[in-house]
Amino acid sequence: MAEKHYDVVIVGGGISGSALFYALAVYSDIKSIALIEKYDALATLSSSGKGNSQTIHTGDIETNYTLSKAKQVKRTANMIRRYCLQHGYENKFMFAHQKMAVGIGDKEVEYMKKRYEEFKELFPYLEVYDKERLKEIEPNIIFDENGNERPEDIVGVGVLDQYSTVDYGAMTQSLVENAKKVPKKQCDVFFNSQVKTIKQLGNQYVLRTVNGDLFTADFVVVDAGAHSLYLAHSMGHGKNFGCLPVAGSYYVTKGHFLKGKVYMVQNPKLPFAALHGDPDVLLDMATRFGPTALALPSLERFHGLSTVPDFFKTLNLDKKIIKILFDLFKDKDIRNYILRNFVYEIPFVKKRAFLKDIKRLVPSLKLEDIEYAKGFGGVRPQVLNKTELKLMLGEASINPGNGIIFNMTPSPGATSCLGNAERDAKIVCSYMKAEFDEKKFIAELVDE
Ligand SMILES: Cc1cc2nc3c(=O)[nH]c(=O)nc-3n(C[C@H](O)[C@H](O)[C@H](O)COP(=O)(O)OP(=O)(O)OC[C@H]3O[C@@H](n4cnc5c(N)ncnc54)[C@H](O)[C@@H]3O)c2cc1C
Repeated sequence: MAEKHYDVVIVGGGISGSALFYALAVYSDIKSIALIEKYDALATLSSSGKGNSQTIHTGDIETNYTLSKAKQVKRTANMIRRYCLQHGYENKFMFAHQKMAVGIGDKEVEYMKKRYEEFKELFPYLEVYDKERLKEIEPNIIFDENGNERPEDIVGVGVLDQYSTVDYGAMTQSLVENAKKVPKKQCDVFFNSQVKTIKQLGNQYVLRTVNGDLFTADFVVVDAGAHSLYLAHSMGHGKNFGCLPVAGSYYVTKGHFLKGKVYMVQNPKLPFAALHGDPDVLLDMATRFGPTALALPSLERFHGLSTVPDFFKTLNLDKKIIKILFDLFKDKDIRNYILRNFVYEIPFVKKRAFLKDIKRLVPSLKLEDIEYAKGFGGVRPQVLNKTELKLMLGEASINPGNGIIFNMTPSPGATSCLGNAERDAKIVCSYMKAEFDEKKFIAELVDE
């Protein structure tokens, strides 16, 4: 079969691959780009509207981010807003509403007030809401089902009106459609094309799909979720990393229990968000609670056992990985968190266990108000670093410097898709001696 040649091949049609496809099409002079996707549509896994919490993570209400992480995230979060406003996607798949992080009880209240002082310069719009104000703007976090006020102190820090919610599945579609509209460029998308092997041959890469199709490229970027590390390992790269897939599930309500996003104080040791409540774009803004966090021996959700063998290869199990996992389990906070999240998935008890914990946020919630959200959720490809012997808190990008990059993007990977695309587009252009129009990129997408 004749091979197809492209300047750049991107593996994976989630939001990361699609954002790079867009960035190269619009802001570089690279002529031909292919996006190769395993399934029959874009964004069917973590990037789908059902796969994540639909949050533009800005760093203002995510209490597990340090100030420097928040600065970094704020820049990329604003790229999402700028992109959507540029193309008129507000109220189509990007929505504005109130959002806040709440501290419950004296210790957390004090923590939130201190955090506000530290973060207010970076986020000057943040406001502090005391209990009286919360009764007006988010009453369901104050009163129980009998109308009694919660006894402990509570404080919210947030903003009343900001673009905070995006259906990232719809955004993925838009990125690809807009890339394909750029004149004088060959931007092709191939579905049902799982890349099985990637081999370097001289200055080029040869990619073979499970169907036997062959592609060649001068540069390859692998944005295949947890499978990025799987493909990296198969080429001898990223051997100092292992992947721990952590699934997240949700509970949905039939009504609007919250007016906006409400986050709880997060444990800084954990890379996963603490439970929160969000208005769901796909459910007419009904409140969705979650996500849970459960380590799974599988790289993809809702595809049966098909990726279990890939999990074992990608975990890269040896003494070092066992030590990282053992150390995690040794920590009392982390161990309790893991066990609690395990209970959230056990039939018959899961709903009650989840309700007990989420009632801390919304005291009036009853068992009949929530339902396990079937078909919602995804897998976060958390990275275990064997050199530093620890679980990495964020994303990982493997760039051996020879024309190939592999990206693993757990949360907030959807928020940082354009930021990662900017980074990778620059690397691709510099390697290929092509132009990246940084001025235009900054003018259109970056808030200075
Ligand atoms: C429960 C949960 C909640 C989250 N909440 C948020 C949030 O609120 N905000 C936020 O910013 N981020 C959030 N995230 C993170 C965010 O969803 C991900 O970082 C982002 O979707 C990753 O996109 P991706 O394109 O890198 O990966 P994916 O969406 O996983 O896409 C990878 C693509 O590669 C394809 N693929 C895999 N292997 C191959 C192969 N061999 N050949 C061809 N194609 C292949 C897959 O089919 C898939 O389409 C959340 C994640 C989870 C799981």
